[in-house]
Amino acid sequence: MKILVINAGSSSLKYQLIDMTDESVICKGNCERIGDAENSLVSYKTADHKIEKLVPMPTHTEAFETIIDLMTNSEYKVINDLSEISATGHRIVQGGDIFSESVLVTDKVIDQIEGLSELAPLHNPAHVKALRACKKVFGDNVPMVVVFDTAFHQTMPQKAYMYGLPMEYSEKYNLRKYGFHGTSHRYVSARVAELIGKPASELKTITCHLGNGSSISAVKYGKCIDTTMGFTPLDGLLMGTRSGAIDPSAVLYLMDKENMTPTEMSNLLNKKSGYLGVTRGLTSDDRDLRALALEGNQDAALAGDMQRYEVKKYIGSFAAAMGGVDVVLFTGGIGENSTLTREVACKGLEFMGIKLDKELNEKLNRGEGKISAADSKVQVWIVPTNEELLIARDTRDIVNK
Ligand code: ADP
Repeated sequence: MKILVINAGSSSLKYQLIDMTDESVICKGNCERIGDAENSLVSYKTADHKIEKLVPMPTHTEAFETIIDLMTNSEYKVINDLSEISATGHRIVQGGDIFSESVLVTDKVIDQIEGLSELAPLHNPAHVKALRACKKVFGDNVPMVVVFDTAFHQTMPQKAYMYGLPMEYSEKYNLRKYGFHGTSHRYVSARVAELIGKPASELKTITCHLGNGSSISAVKYGKCIDTTMGFTPLDGLLMGTRSGAIDPSAVLYLMDKENMTPTEMSNLLNKKSGYLGVTRGLTSDDRDLRALALEGNQDAALAGDMQRYEVKKYIGSFAAAMGGVDVVLFTGGIGENSTLTREVACKGLEFMGIKLDKELNEKLNRGEGKISAADSKVQVWIVPTNEELLIARDTRDIVNK
């Protein structure tokens, strides 16, 4: 069985064709600048080749046609025809409180995803466009499955997801914590249990997904009970360009002082804050941040310190929320690669049984592995995330049913 996994944005469409017999990636790539037909670009990578070329893609429909053409018709084709693709699996950012698991796509499901657009104006409308284009290009006989970033967090108890706002507004506008990166938190928390050789239902795990966007979840006995992102992916940790949690009064004060509209303020908090904001516009990238800090840039050193301190704080608070912790794991571009982030985040947590093996932490980059000391009560792991694989597995399971 071959499954095409799709992660669509408003002007991009990332794809991976996965062979479910051995879960290997047959080909993958990205369509960029969809809508800007003169400059739209597709990349396509197989085991042996990588190509990139300009192809006019005025809409997501042409993006699907382009990747199908590459897979079936090009010099580097990987399948003979479309009938080899059994199903498509789609990443959806916001499933609201409607979707607590992945589902088969029907017209009603597409309408429901569209109906949640107000909660994710940058993402859900783009997903809907891609779903409709996919249906048009593949036809009704290829089943589609949707996998939600928010679904894994639907197990949070009310006390964790409600905000202390007047109830009538919370209810009227569905204002609550939803949490994001759920596919990643679900994949890595299940994977670490497998690696340890214990059922997830017996483990209290803290999953630290640290990348351009970062979030941490408390996964108690296989179920998420709390997470750092909230109503939107802006909450929680300081990130590449996002502020993370700040006093809401600071937002109101700044809007008032600078005469900013909600859209301008949202832009500032989402795109101009975080590492980028604290370094006065120098970088949003953790590697560059570290290099700048080593050169003596105080702002860069501060931005890194701020994020690492927050990671430590959330580890402590989520251990408290779960009444203990068995496993702390790191994933995402920073979590998988930054020795420093892992070291600083865990330092000083020996009192709660977390003790890193300095050498393992330095040696193990990219790849799965345990980095805690032999006598550490809590196991600390690096587990590279694989959201596409989980989407493909869900798609297979639902289609098989
Ligand atoms: P996204 O949230 O966009 O998926 P990623 O998970 O790819 O992001 O993470 C991107 C971040 O990971 C960037 O800040 C980048 O600097 C960081 N990163 C990638 N490789 C390394 C590395 N070797 N050392 C430190 N940070 C790294």
